[in-house]
Order: sequence, then C-alpha cells, then structure tokens
Amino acid sequence: MKRKTELTGKVVCRNDPEYCQARRNWNPFTNAFPKLFVFAQSKEDVANAVKWARENDVPIRIRSGRHALAKDFSQTDGGIVIDTSHMRQVKVDPSRGIATVEAGIRVGPLVRMLAGKGFLAPFGDSSTVGIGGISTGGGITAIQRTAGLISDNILAATLVDANGEILHVSENENPDLLWAIRGGGGGNFGIITSYTFVIRPAPTQVGIFQIIWPWEQMDEVFDVWQRWAPVVDVRLGTILEIYSKSNGLLRSQGIFLGHASEMKRLITPLINVGCPDRVFVHEVSLLEAIEFWAPDEPLFDTQNSTWSSAWAEQSIPAKGIKAIRSFLEKTTGSESNFFFLNSGGAMNRVDPKDTAFFWRNTKYYAEWDATWTEKSETRENLALVEKTRMRLQPYVTGSYVNVPDLSIKDYGHEYYGGNFDRLRRVKAKYDPDNVFCFIQSIPPAPYCGCDHDDWEQPV
Ligand SMILES: Cc1cc2nc3c(=O)[nH]c(=O)nc-3n(C[C@H](O)[C@H](O)[C@H](O)COP(=O)(O)OP(=O)(O)OC[C@H]3O[C@@H](n4cnc5c(N)ncnc54)[C@H](O)[C@@H]3O)c2cc1C
Repeated sequence: MKRKTELTGKVVCRNDPEYCQARRNWNPFTNAFPKLFVFAQSKEDVANAVKWARENDVPIRIRSGRHALAKDFSQTDGGIVIDTSHMRQVKVDPSRGIATVEAGIRVGPLVRMLAGKGFLAPFGDSSTVGIGGISTGGGITAIQRTAGLISDNILAATLVDANGEILHVSENENPDLLWAIRGGGGGNFGIITSYTFVIRPAPTQVGIFQIIWPWEQMDEVFDVWQRWAPVVDVRLGTILEIYSKSNGLLRSQGIFLGHASEMKRLITPLINVGCPDRVFVHEVSLLEAIEFWAPDEPLFDTQNSTWSSAWAEQSIPAKGIKAIRSFLEKTTGSESNFFFLNSGGAMNRVDPKDTAFFWRNTKYYAEWDATWTEKSETRENLALVEKTRMRLQPYVTGSYVNVPDLSIKDYGHEYYGGNFDRLRRVKAKYDPDNVFCFIQSIPPAPYCGCDHDDWEQPV
C-alpha cells in the first residue's frame, strides 16, 4: 500500500496561535481563511505539501511576499497555502554575472544586498514585494528601459510541479516552462522555489528627481508627462502619481542611470509645465536611489484596496484625462490614486512572442486603485474602479497580470494577449489536471489528440 505523504516544514493550522498572523496579506481585502499554511524551509517541503494536497483533495495556493492585490490569488478559504517566505538564500556568481535567489526573499533586501556587492538588478517601488510573485508576472521597474522586465532577466528556475516533482527550468531543460514563467503570472505552472537572474555591474552614481505640483494642475502635467516620458532617454525611468483630490498629491519622480547634470537637462520639459511647488534633483549612490524609490515600509497595509491596470500604446486624449480626473474627484479614499510608469527601450525590444509577457509596444503603464476602511464602502469602490476601466477602455490595451482585476471577464487575452493560447498548451503539458487553479488562472488547453511535445509550439 502506498504510504501517505506527511507535511514537512513549519505547519500552521486554524487552532494555532500563529494562524491570525499567517493569514494576513498586504491588502487586507485579500485575506481568506485557509485550512492551513506550510512555511516551507526547502524545496522538499514544497514537494511534500503538493503531494499531500493532492492526496487529501485540498485546493492549493502559493505565496511568497503576501502582496497579491486581488482575492483568491494567494489564499483561499479551506485551502492549503504553500508559502516560500522562509526560503531566502541568495548565491551570487560575480564571474558569470548571475544570482540564484530563493523565492521567499523580498525585493528590497535582495537589491540592496546586490547593490552592496556592486550589482544592479531591477526593482519595483515597494521593498516588501516578494520575488516569488513579482518575477514571474513580469516585474515592471524604474530601470526596465535599460534592464528589461524582471522576468526578462530570468535565466533558470527550480519549480515544484503539480505532481510534487522538482523540475529544473532553463534553455536546456523544460524550455517551454522557462518561456511560460517569463511573464505567465504567478501560481499557474507550479511553485518556483528559486530563480537564477542576470545581474549587471552597478553604476557608482545615479541621478534622481522629484517634482511636486498643486493637484489642480493635473490635466496639464499628465498630458506633458505622457508625451515626454515614453521618448526621453532610455536611461531615465519615471513615474507620475496622482492621488485623490482629497489627498491632493501630484508628483513625478525618476531614476537616471547617468549623471544628475545630464538628467536635469532631460527633465526640463517637465519642470517647465505648470508651477511646481517643489523640484529636487540629486546625484546619489545606487543604494540611496533604491532607498528613494523603494523605501522600507510596513509589511501590511491598513486599508482595503481594489485595483485595475492597463497599457497605453498611444497618448490618452482629453476625454480619457477627464475620466482620470473624475475618478480622483469621486474616490473617497485618501490613498486612492493613478500611477503611470514609462516603458520603451529594453522592455520593448523583446519580441512579444519570445517570452510569455506580451505587451511590448507600449508607451507607458497605467494603474489605478481605490482604498477604503469600512466594509460598507466595498461595493462603491469596486464599482468606481470598474467604471473607470470602462471609460478608459477605448484608449488603452490589455492589463497587467500582477495587478489583477477580477471584473475582467476575458482575462486571458487581457493579461497575455496573443500568448494566451500557447500558455494554455504549456499548462496542459505540465498541469493537465489543473491542480494549480484559482479565480483567474490559466486553464489547460483541451486535449486535441496531438503529441504533447508539439503543444509548446507557437500558433
Ligand atoms: C505595495 C505594492 C507595490 C507593488 N509594486 C510593484 C512594482 O513596482 N512592480 C511590479 O511589477 N509589481 C508591483 N506590485 C505587484 C506585485 O508584483 C504583485 O502583487 C505580486 O504578485 C506580488 O508577489 P508576492 O510574492 O509579494 O505576493 P503573494 O501574495 O505571495 O503572491 C502573489 C501571486 O504570485 C504567486 N506566487 C507567489 N510566490 C510564488 C512562487 N514561489 N511560485 C509561483 N508563484 C508564486 C501567487 O500564486 C499569487 O498568484 C506591487 C504590489 C504591492 C502591493
């Protein structure tokens, strides 16, 4: 008789005192009541947890940094959460320019450690986001125009599949899976226990800037930013953030992989728009720039939030800007905001079919979220974010899988564009029984009678 698999690692069940803390996510709106958590200490613990879940017919969710933005992605009621956050080892090989990183480390500690050793790796705007989740969904960052997306930097990975088998993923081993995890979104193909990334020599000094304007100048500032940011020197990554009217913050900032004096010249069109309240331009070390972009922050937010996102392949016209303003005037949450990040450069030089991340012809990324504290405010905030998505629909394309929106029905094409069908075939090959299934996961392609090995070919 086959022996039943035992759970290994640190197991937290509903009656344990650690349970309440274990179920907290960054966004409290996404918290659920799983049956248990396994905090894996090794890839073998992960493998045992997958086998146990299958033997006991318990739905699986995967978690690393707890920053999932929508419900059901990294926790579900009654499920097992396989959490890699205790696995944080990093091995740097300076001679080969690579780092092998366990999936449980967070972005901030990783990129600070690499910067301390003289290496540059892409980082987002939050130090507490998990490498486990951000990397496989894409990973948009201030230096993506030079270094590409985080997923473009994945050379190899170790992954526990739906049978609890440990797979090596690289150009030579399971290459279709490498293609899929470079943008195919978290939780779809297995549990990634480590990634191997390209790392680059770090510049000694970089330029940073910040400009703050009175909120009322948002239309003008946004329009100048959206025409300037996509075409400015690719060494300059810049965001524009417009908070709710009640908050009143309107700010742009950026990182330039070069000298501040050169950056100052590049940002002149932005400084000249409206009447800024504050402009600062500094030359700093890479470590200071990371601190500026992704400062230390609490692991948990206190407010509920709901999100949507899209890609801009052309400038948003006046009607669209009106929709943005209307959202920011109506939302009651003080932290509700619109966020834009310029793309282009290295990010857009990759062919859309070369990796699972499809959106390679964009000028910039747009995201908006509404925040609230009282349960009674939930419905109106979900509706406002959705209404804004509908109003912006004519001017934008697709959506970003790492900032998922459960109102999107055709999510496969919105997140993965022309790569969705191939992703479904890879899913059918590695997870035909759809073990890794959640609210917006990639469904396996229906079996069509052909040889499995052909399924990975592009359509
Ligand atoms: C404050 C904040 C700032 C952010 N800033 C950025 C940014 O600058 N750039 C950007 O691109 N995104 C950003 N995001 C979005 C972020 O990339 C996603 O929320 C991401 O999924 C979080 O990963 P995680 O491991 O922290 O979250 P988790 O909640 O642990 O997981 C999220 C998803 O990833 C999957 N996943 C997690 N670990 C693994 C694993 N080991 N193997 C396979 N799948 C896994 C889960 O199944 C789940 O679907 C931000 C989010 C927040 C909340």
